[in-house]
Amino acid sequence: MTIDFQAVLERIAAEMTPLAGRSGTVASYIPALARVPAAHFGLALRTREGLEASAGDANVPFSIQSISKLFTLTLAMRRMGDDLWERIGREPSGNPFNSLVQLEYEQGKPRNPFINAGAIAIADRLLGHGETKAELLQLMSDLCDEPIEFDAEVAASEASTGYRNFALANFMKSFGKLDNDVDDVLDFYFHQCAIRMSCLQLARAAGFLCRDGAHPQDGRGEVTSERHARRINALMLTCGTYDAAGDVAFSIGLPCKSGVGGGIVAVVPDQLTLCVWSPALDASGNSYLGMLALERFAASTGLSIF
Ligand code: GLN
Repeated sequence: MTIDFQAVLERIAAEMTPLAGRSGTVASYIPALARVPAAHFGLALRTREGLEASAGDANVPFSIQSISKLFTLTLAMRRMGDDLWERIGREPSGNPFNSLVQLEYEQGKPRNPFINAGAIAIADRLLGHGETKAELLQLMSDLCDEPIEFDAEVAASEASTGYRNFALANFMKSFGKLDNDVDDVLDFYFHQCAIRMSCLQLARAAGFLCRDGAHPQDGRGEVTSERHARRINALMLTCGTYDAAGDVAFSIGLPCKSGVGGGIVAVVPDQLTLCVWSPALDASGNSYLGMLALERFAASTGLSIF
């Protein structure tokens, strides 16, 4: 059966748009994000073969926040292979993304690469391997074939209010689990979170995850190996939406990575990547309407890994 993806996305956007901003709340702990109007909804997808479909605010750039963790993990796996797992676990945390509690019990080794502590540890590893913020932007631009920038205001806003992230980084440093200076590591981390991209750009950029690691743009080689791509999808399913990961597996059944900017990237392995955006969040820090939209998408297309 061939699915008319454009019609599916338009139907979902027509259902969701009137609800945008009615439920959930825009992240307010980062002042620059609190100013984003809640009443946005957009979604876009790109198939393995490169067919694209989009609806609603699919071309409006937003702060990708924790979706960036997907790309820094990919870079770190590429650079370090299995050595990466010496300092970072691969288990769901069952705790909020910025929780400090587990880190003390587990002597500064974050549960997984998608909670804040894990992503900060990855930023440290990348810096240790000479990776720069400019190279990260270059990767993102190359993946979606369009110039991508940081939102300097969001990065500065996070740096001035990131008390919990400073606490997490200092905590890891105290356990000897960060090699670089805390300020340098967090500067990298805050900037990766402050990348601005649209749903369509993210659906394109994540395309290697439905192509066994091959670059989303034909003829540009591989972004990562098939083995790594499979593992990143596994981590997205088990850890990509924080303490809601079990619920997401239950009701959506796709590997997903969310961010507090209201974006969620989802992968249908071997078939397509999808990105949905609506800024108002549920209690776990995942987009309220984004989750609902992904549920509708999985139900109406029958696409799920289960
Ligand atoms: N920049 C945000 C933070 O560090 C990212 C969190 C998220 O998107 N879940 O708190």
